[in-house]
Amino acid sequence: APRLVPAFSRIGEENAFAVLARATDLAREGRDIINLGIGQPDFPTPDHIVEAAIKALRDGHHGYTPATGILPLREAVAADVERRTGVAVSPDEVIVVPGGKVTMFMAILMFGEPGAEILYPDPGFPIYRSMIEFTGATPVPVPIREENGFAFSAAETLALITPKTRLLILNSPANPTGGVTPKAEIDALVKGLEAHPHVAILSDEIYSQMSYDGLQHVSLLTYPSIRDRLILLDGWSKTYAMTGWRMGFSLWPKPWGDAARKLAVNSYSCVNASAQWAGLAALTGPQDAVHAMVAEFDRRRKIVVDGLNQLPGVSSVVPKGAFYAFPNIRATGWKAKPLASALLEKAGVATIGGPDFGVYGEGYIRLSYANSAENIRRALARMGEFLGANP
Ligand code: PLP
Repeated sequence: APRLVPAFSRIGEENAFAVLARATDLAREGRDIINLGIGQPDFPTPDHIVEAAIKALRDGHHGYTPATGILPLREAVAADVERRTGVAVSPDEVIVVPGGKVTMFMAILMFGEPGAEILYPDPGFPIYRSMIEFTGATPVPVPIREENGFAFSAAETLALITPKTRLLILNSPANPTGGVTPKAEIDALVKGLEAHPHVAILSDEIYSQMSYDGLQHVSLLTYPSIRDRLILLDGWSKTYAMTGWRMGFSLWPKPWGDAARKLAVNSYSCVNASAQWAGLAALTGPQDAVHAMVAEFDRRRKIVVDGLNQLPGVSSVVPKGAFYAFPNIRATGWKAKPLASALLEKAGVATIGGPDFGVYGEGYIRLSYANSAENIRRALARMGEFLGANP
């Protein structure tokens, strides 16, 4: 019988989608399920963005666009990144992609091969490891530790670099922990990376506009010494509540940008034209919806953390970014995946077990607070009841 190449026995996936499917099935059976599993804003895309897509369709934007995205959009991305980071960016560096995920897919394809080592955060977004394995490269997890506020440790990261390291993946603010790596730690990391010019850097900054407690986002783009080997991943999905539009953007050093453009030409050709016009409206229009959404996440963050810390055997550090809490559940006596599964089946609360984000995720579960304050309170009450009855 025809058989797939071995790479497909190594590729993984995102368990969040399986949890969502199970939660949807249970809801269809009539169960009342509160979904704290899914990593997407519970807000609609702001109206003026939706209108821009409709207008683009009416105006006849029905054809292919340049593979890297329409010029006005790439100009708007460059201006937006420049406004937020203070770093001059050329539209030629920008590639618009169908979702932030595609940037990591491309970057990992560019540097992954048997014998290569790729460093990635663990716990971290599961697609990093999956794609590294797909290419045959060796995944090297960088432990992201609770006692370090779920930030990268510069010393620990640098100690893992070898002559075989080809790519280092960074992510702050982070999924699944909500951790934000402080500027001093990034300074130290970049300083150390200067001694390892053979290492490319992919900085996943998809949560760049979701930091709390007055923290300013620190982009890796603001470090000139690594600019010529930095790939910046960002996009519209989280900031503008546009996960289903499949829109992301990335900045690439020139030769790698050419390779990315060729991957686009060889696969999806270009991002949906009307979505690109929507993306332009998002960047150039009013930003109040973004600020309102982040303020609401901040309010819920406090409810989640306070509530978690009152549950028996549960403790949560205060997440500084994104919209996730990653409580330590060791003292409940439960392993993380059985607990997440029991919470869904028995208590009607969808969460994700930490091991779905890496080997260092055991002992934790991820809760997304992209759900109403009322639902979050109800979910916490159900979790308390469940843990009280099932110690
Ligand atoms: N990077 C991180 C850390 C994420 O959490 C996600 C989405 O969950 C993505 C990238 C992918 O974003 P997109 O939906 O734009 O592909």
